[in-house]
Amino acid sequence: MPVTPAATAAPHTPELEALRRQDPEIAEVILGEVRRQADSLQLIAAENFTSPAVLAALGSPLANKYAEGYPGARHHGGCELVDAAERIAVDRARALFGADHANVQPHSGSSAMLAAYAALLRPGDTVLAMGLAFGGHLTHGSPANFSGRWFEFVPYGVDAESGLLDYEQVLRLARQHRPKAIVCGSISYPRHPDYAVFREIADEVGAYLIADAAHPMGLIAGGAAASPVPYADVVCATTHKVLRGPRGGMVLCDGHLAERIDRAVFPFTQGGAQMHTIAAKAVAFGEAATPAFASYVRQVVANAKALAEGLAAEGFAITTGGTDTHLITADPAPLGVDGRTARGRLAAAGLVLDTCALPYGDGRGIRLGTAAVTTQGMAEAEMARIAVLFTAALLGQDGEARRVREDVRELAGRFPPHTG
Ligand SMILES: *Cc1c(COP(=O)(O)O)cnc(C)c1O
Repeated sequence: MPVTPAATAAPHTPELEALRRQDPEIAEVILGEVRRQADSLQLIAAENFTSPAVLAALGSPLANKYAEGYPGARHHGGCELVDAAERIAVDRARALFGADHANVQPHSGSSAMLAAYAALLRPGDTVLAMGLAFGGHLTHGSPANFSGRWFEFVPYGVDAESGLLDYEQVLRLARQHRPKAIVCGSISYPRHPDYAVFREIADEVGAYLIADAAHPMGLIAGGAAASPVPYADVVCATTHKVLRGPRGGMVLCDGHLAERIDRAVFPFTQGGAQMHTIAAKAVAFGEAATPAFASYVRQVVANAKALAEGLAAEGFAITTGGTDTHLITADPAPLGVDGRTARGRLAAAGLVLDTCALPYGDGRGIRLGTAAVTTQGMAEAEMARIAVLFTAALLGQDGEARRVREDVRELAGRFPPHTG
């Protein structure tokens, strides 16, 4: 089997060398994962490759520091330097998104949502959010999640014909149920919500508007998508995904909600802040403010459109007929396979993606995104190639599967991610 440089590339940092000597078992897992990320294509819509600078902050001794509370008001000594890191992260987030207030402490997107609910709601309150079958997140009322247990969720959906948000239905449900909060945002909807319309509906029924912008936050940072900040009372997001920072969350809000949000994050839902992650968030916000990041997110969207067109030409049924974002939702049924079978065959070919709920289809579809492959430097020509590899991986005979795997390895090898 031809071995591409990317397939053998392993980070030879002194830290990893030391880890390999001390704990070869875990070092092997890490190096194997580095190889896996380099010789297959990461099309999971929520994934990306952080920069070496973000990884350096994440792996720094700031991980040793305890810092409960907020800069200037900590429950621990010795916080002067990590306070500086958090202030920089907050200032950069506020400037990047034009927000009055930013809390950069939530450990994840789900923790950010928990804090938003804790700040605005009481247990038992009614919340209107996109139904899980239509692309709502677990934190939008899943019975398996705290949200579904502690609040009364009313789900809204999409139009059966177009697959697009049905604002008439949102308004009708809002008038009928008088929710305390309305959530907009999704894990698989390939278009942007109209935040101004959601604001009008929220105002009419006196509800808070919470934008869960975990997926598009990077597009918003780089100017490739409209911002919910002027419209929503609270904006929750992850700092990973398109935004390309460390795994974590954040909350943006109006000044008048700042104290409630801060107290909802700490001490209500979390303990000590993770200062290495907060420093890495600051680095990512710094990167996201550059012209290079603006061109990156423009290319992410151009690539998603090109890939959606390519997949449509190969026979996939593309939800809403295309995308305005970094993600695509598709039904592979016209090719004679369901979403789960498709995910398995594609993974065997080195094309890694998720299944997802299909609003009105039978079974599951596939969800994929272009954030990671665009970070690798791929453009429209590679997207056209990937679309063809999809059908070859799904429909090819035995001998062809191995050839498709080699083609994917070759393509990935030409665009090494900066994990080394
Ligand atoms: C990813 C995501 C989250 C949760 O993020 P985690 O960091 O996985 O907890 C919440 N809401 C939406 C819409 C998301 O896409």
